[in-house]
Amino acid sequence: MELSERQNKIIDIVKEDGPITGEKIAKQLSLSRATLRPDLAILTMAGYLDARPRVGYFYTGKTGSELLTEKVKQYKVKEFQSVPVVVKEDQSVYDAVSTMFLGDVGTLFVVNDTGCLTGVLSRKDLLRASIGNQDLNSVPVHIIMTRMPNVTVCTANDLLIEAAKKLIDKQIDGLPVVKETDEGLQVIGRITKTNVTKAFVELILDEQI
Ligand code: ADP
Repeated sequence: MELSERQNKIIDIVKEDGPITGEKIAKQLSLSRATLRPDLAILTMAGYLDARPRVGYFYTGKTGSELLTEKVKQYKVKEFQSVPVVVKEDQSVYDAVSTMFLGDVGTLFVVNDTGCLTGVLSRKDLLRASIGNQDLNSVPVHIIMTRMPNVTVCTANDLLIEAAKKLIDKQIDGLPVVKETDEGLQVIGRITKTNVTKAFVELILDEQI
């Protein structure tokens, strides 16, 4: 977050004289308390300043990168996950290719009859299967998928940064977001490199995209 000249001045005053009331900060800047209110709200929300009733504002001492880290650690998978696109394990590779195009995704999740996760299909899995001489209509996806228990998953409450780390460590493009049930893991979402990129842009530009 880029601070304005006035906001930097406020931080300097609070560093020097804090705890200090909003009234006194305003006086030092020859401004009204009302004019300062939005700046104080921004600085408090961003974590540079803290406010205590009847005491005033004080400097938290946190650097920009500490505040950024704190913010990233609040990002949960559930806030950024997308809708999962799934195929059944006995559907054909041909069906999976169509579903991937229609669903506009790079990773498909494979489920059994009870909707539980059994595997994953990437673009290259499908390409590999397509360059052989086999009839794509007669090959079921469970033959070519990466299967459980080798599928890397995450849950809606995981930190986004943990999911991002898994994508990097395992060199994969997406993770199913799962929920444990008696029957197995239900697929409730997906996290991909695109979701992580969106979070990165939101973090820096502070806007929802
Ligand atoms: P691509 O193969 O198109 O480059 P990925 O890098 O995502 O896409 O996939 C690489 C391999 O890892 C594929 O064989 C795929 O089946 C497998 N894979 C993809 N996602 C996962 C996952 N979440 N867990 C385990 N394996 C995965």
